This record gives sequence, structure tokens and C-alpha cells, in this order.
Amino acid sequence: MASKKRKPLIRHLINTLIVLIIITVGYVCYTIVYDLRVRIINRSELNDLAGMNPDYAARFEHFVNDVENESGWKVKIISGLRSRNEQIQLKRDNPRNAPVNKSRHVMGRAVDINLYKRVGLTTLLLKKSSSKASWRRTGVPGIALRYKLLWGGTYRNYHDPVHFEIN
Ligand SMILES: [Zn+2]
Repeated sequence: MASKKRKPLIRHLINTLIVLIIITVGYVCYTIVYDLRVRIINRSELNDLAGMNPDYAARFEHFVNDVENESGWKVKIISGLRSRNEQIQLKRDNPRNAPVNKSRHVMGRAVDINLYKRVGLTTLLLKKSSSKASWRRTGVPGIALRYKLLWGGTYRNYHDPVHFEIN
């Protein structure tokens, strides 16, 4: 009698365990693919910048590497080199964006980045709408100083904490 009762319980536990393993493996695979995709995008953005100016691109690359090695956050470059047309369109979409002849992105002297970090099963993300205080706490603006990069978080009348430029 007792063994008959235990069997379904064990089977239930095994099934639950299998589901948990599948979810965990799925999540790990997802994070690996996500990180790989970010790496490929970052590489491509840095290559585009290097096409304009290899020295500036190298500075941004060192900056990104230091951020990842020291801050515990991962970097996702969301914008690097922009064409004149892209910048004209951005200015049309939001008049607060830089005009095409002033944009450091068009000159290959700026990157916009997001930061992300996984804590358990959640992913923390720092983006443009995140507060300057949150960005400061990561230590990233301090690392930017090391490479003489101007941080968009220091702009007086435009909130742009994702932006780092060589001016
Ligand atoms: Zn920018």
C-alpha cells in the first residue's frame, strides 16, 4: 500500500525536476545567445567607428572592456557611427537631438550604450530613461573620465546618460 502511494509522488517529483532542468537549460541557452548577439553588435559598431578613426575606436573599446571587467555590468552599444541621413532623421524626430554638423556620432566620436546585469532570473537594465544617480552608482562615468570621454549625464538641459563622446 505504502509503495503504491509513494510511486506517483516520486514520479511527480521527477517530472517537476525535469521541467525545472528544461527551464534552466533554456534560460542559460537564451542568455548565451543574447550575450553573443550583443558581442557581435558591439564588434560591428566598433569596426564602423574604426573605419572613421582607429584611435577613437580603440579608446571606446578599452572603455567598454574596463566597464565589463570592473563594474559588473555588461555593455550593449546601441548607437555608434551614424550616417548624416540617420542624424537628420533623429533631429526631425526629436529637435533636442544634435544637428547633423554637430553630432559626434556622425564624426565617429561617440557611442550610446545600455548596461545590463543578470540577478537570478531577472535582468537589470540601465538605459536612457534611467536616472543619472543609477548610472553614477555603476562607476561607469568614472571609467569614462579615465579615457577623457565626456558623459552625456553631465549635460545641463538634456538627459542623455547613455552617451559617451570624445569632444
Ligand atoms: Zn549619443
